[in-house]
Amino acid sequence: MMETSTLVIATRNPGKLKEIESLLSDFPIRLLSLDAFGPIPESPEEGQTFDDNAYQKASFVARVLGLPALADDSGLVVEALNGQPGVHSARFGGENLTDTDRCRLLLEKMQGEPNRRASFQCVISIAVPTGAALTYEGICEGVIATEMMGSGGFGYDPVFFYPPLGKTFAEISAEEKNRISHRAKALMEVREEFPKILKWIQQNMPIWETFTCQEGCHD
Ligand code: IMP
Repeated sequence: MMETSTLVIATRNPGKLKEIESLLSDFPIRLLSLDAFGPIPESPEEGQTFDDNAYQKASFVARVLGLPALADDSGLVVEALNGQPGVHSARFGGENLTDTDRCRLLLEKMQGEPNRRASFQCVISIAVPTGAALTYEGICEGVIATEMMGSGGFGYDPVFFYPPLGKTFAEISAEEKNRISHRAKALMEVREEFPKILKWIQQNMPIWETFTCQEGCHD
């Protein structure tokens, strides 16, 4: 019988954790968020691609905790801005801006631009402490609106217009977004592959050496 493994979800965001837990609830795995542990060092996020960053976060947490870990990295890629804000989505325009400031800045940069194609992209990496990892990807195509619309969601949702629904991501319900978003697509791929992922984790986890107390070994 397959023993229950543990997978650390490398996030302190309760919304993300809930989404991942509900998608993986029928598998024999114990999911722990970073909040289940004490303070651990901040993981690096210095890559030039979503792949790099997701892998850096997952492998860092796996090494630090000695457990398999899942991390994601995501952002908005705008064609006319050569892929910006991309991996810098969370910091676009500087550290101190609000989500609304960032949407405004994006609209300014896109003023008069006829090519409004954009995509939300998400990469999920699952790593074991040795550094080996698996990668899953989800992309959601849309266009940058000419003004902010809607009050739901977060980040760039008010300016991301999704043509199949004729609305921005800030105008649709959370349930609807969780069916079509970049993150949902990547997570669905993880879900579909999960039995294989569990086997892969078991095969790739290092065998920790255990030491038994020999004669002369004292407390
Ligand atoms: P992270 O991968 O959760 O750190 O997200 C990076 C940044 O990308 C966020 O801070 C948002 O600015 C943007 N982003 C990622 N996913 C979404 C989304 O679903 N809607 C709006 N913005 C998003």
